[in-house]
Amino acid sequence: MKEFILIKNGEIALKGLNRSTFEDALVKNIKRRLSPILRADITKSQSTIMIEPVTENPDMDAAVEAIKRVFGIAGFSRAAACEKDMDVMRQVVVDYLADTYRECKTFKVEARRSDKKFPLNSPEICRELGGEILSHFPHLKVDVHNPDLVVNVEVREKYTFIHGNQIKGAGGMPVGTSGRAAVMISGGIDSPVAAWTMAKRGLVLDAIHFASPPYTSQRAEQKVHELLGKVSKYSGTINLLVVPFTEIQEHIKDDCPEDLFTIIMRRMMMRIAIELAKRQGCGAIITGESLAQVASQTLLALGCTDAVATMPVFRPLIGMDKNEIVEISRKIDTFNISIQPYEDCCTVFTPKHPRLRPTLEDVEEAEKALDMDNLIKRAVDGVKIVVIDKSLEV
Ligand code: ATP
Ligand code: MG
Repeated sequence: MKEFILIKNGEIALKGLNRSTFEDALVKNIKRRLSPILRADITKSQSTIMIEPVTENPDMDAAVEAIKRVFGIAGFSRAAACEKDMDVMRQVVVDYLADTYRECKTFKVEARRSDKKFPLNSPEICRELGGEILSHFPHLKVDVHNPDLVVNVEVREKYTFIHGNQIKGAGGMPVGTSGRAAVMISGGIDSPVAAWTMAKRGLVLDAIHFASPPYTSQRAEQKVHELLGKVSKYSGTINLLVVPFTEIQEHIKDDCPEDLFTIIMRRMMMRIAIELAKRQGCGAIITGESLAQVASQTLLALGCTDAVATMPVFRPLIGMDKNEIVEISRKIDTFNISIQPYEDCCTVFTPKHPRLRPTLEDVEEAEKALDMDNLIKRAVDGVKIVVIDKSLEV
């Protein structure tokens, strides 16, 4: 017996986008995501995307796990594909979902037949197969209103598909349908969650990380690779740009007022991030900032940082509490990496008493002490690019 994965159009979030652009991007992403696991024929037929593995003994568990991480799918089904013959269907409906029946108390059969030449109509198929299930699993009861399990039977052109309850998908929009953005990534909890959240809305990601050796270690950068590796399971390939930031931080420390160190540093990060984002063809910056979480994330501080931004800055976590962010980081499996203790450049040279109410005039005046253009140029020229997860190229 063959197994398919079926994705219904009704389960795809289509709002506001040209349907076929959306579906084509989705099919492309599914193909790429499955390619390390199995080869598959993917066809669109009667409002369903049908994934048919063509590899011998395909690893369907791995395929299901991969599909769960493809944005643009609200839900999907793993289905048995069998001959369009009632004897075969009776056998398959009992065998294929046997483990599930044992865990349930109530069920109903829902049959659809797009092949109108099939000798039984839908109510007859339901009756026949429902009776067969009950005769093998006498503990079950039929409940047509609120069953634990819906056994779906679809008699289509080539096969009959039999499947149980739907598996929840990752939701969102297919990566690549919303353009490209650069996420400012630290080793912390927040920025990987911000990256994931925006990839979910269909953005291809680049990532920018500021490193300050020798104050920050190679291990801290390695941590960023690992975090992005987790995110790339959802987003596809991420180009990571590592920016040398030591010189700039030392200049700010030496030449600017201590209590403005953090805000000036963040404006420098933003200027460089935007320069790099433009080179990469990105239309926005993403950060993991959350209002009032730390001194650099007050309304005034965010305003000072945004004053140097010449493209949209997305802060998807701005209204979230830490525990809500942690919940997502656990779900996407970044939490345990994020909590490993390695220095981030943001914690190097931080003043004991950062100014909580910086004015833009004071900050701009203080920045005059810096050789801005040259510092930015040297940082940009020193960028190192690391490709995270080549096999998942978007
Ligand atoms: P995170 O958990 O993402 O580190 P945080 O609460 O520790 O966030 P900050 O360290 O103040 O907050 O950083 C706020 C945001 O600035 C981060 O979410 C990230 O987008 C960006 N950022 C911080 N450090 C770096 C870095 N070394 N390289 C690139 N971006 C950074
Ligand atoms: Mg941080």
